[in-house]
Amino acid sequence: MTRPAPAQPSPDSAHRNRDHPGSDHPGSVRAGRSPVRGARRAAALLALAAALVGAAGCSPSSSPVPTEDRAEATVSVTESGLDLDNGALPADARIDDGALPGVAKLDANLRKAVEAAAADAREDGVDFTVNSGWRSAAYQKGLLDDAVATYGSRTEAARWVASPESSPHVRGKAVDIGPVDASSWLSQHGADYGLCQIYGNEMWHYELRPDAAEQGCPAQYSDPTEDPRMRG
Ligand SMILES: [Zn+2]
Repeated sequence: MTRPAPAQPSPDSAHRNRDHPGSDHPGSVRAGRSPVRGARRAAALLALAAALVGAAGCSPSSSPVPTEDRAEATVSVTESGLDLDNGALPADARIDDGALPGVAKLDANLRKAVEAAAADAREDGVDFTVNSGWRSAAYQKGLLDDAVATYGSRTEAARWVASPESSPHVRGKAVDIGPVDASSWLSQHGADYGLCQIYGNEMWHYELRPDAAEQGCPAQYSDPTEDPRMRG
């Protein structure tokens, strides 16, 4: 007879989720998810957490990070009182989820292009998540206010976040796609669908440029401050 092994305490288990404050939040605005969708969401959150850890690297937690398009910005705005009706999205939003205003209010041609790209990417084993799509002007203002607080000035914030008047997201003309393997897939294949990265500093932000399939995507602006649309 072998003796029963002594119980092994599992030091990790009690703390596994301690560093993901707010990770439950996006789901809270959307009750009644199926177990499959829930599992999918959990996987997306794990991927997001890994991406955030990677993005943070060894830098101090107080260092500024881009707030436009990042999931934490979405959570922050959501916590400040905005919701799905303003374009906030759960962490695993899909381009074919027409029940979400942030997806449903996208320009129809942009949405069709992203749906086609997402279907083909899936065959390559790459899943698209819509991190942000259409946003209300109020949502965009919240993002801008957050960015001004983060960067300390409106000038610096403008490198990352447009005003409600100028943001293509508010007009339903832009979509932010993650995770990194999905935006990488788009950087290789997006032009075939008319989908172009517009800003060098925002590898997740895509807009429709119908001529791109024939002519390729236009040269990128290094950041939104170079975009004449942002100066209106
Ligand atoms: Zn964007």
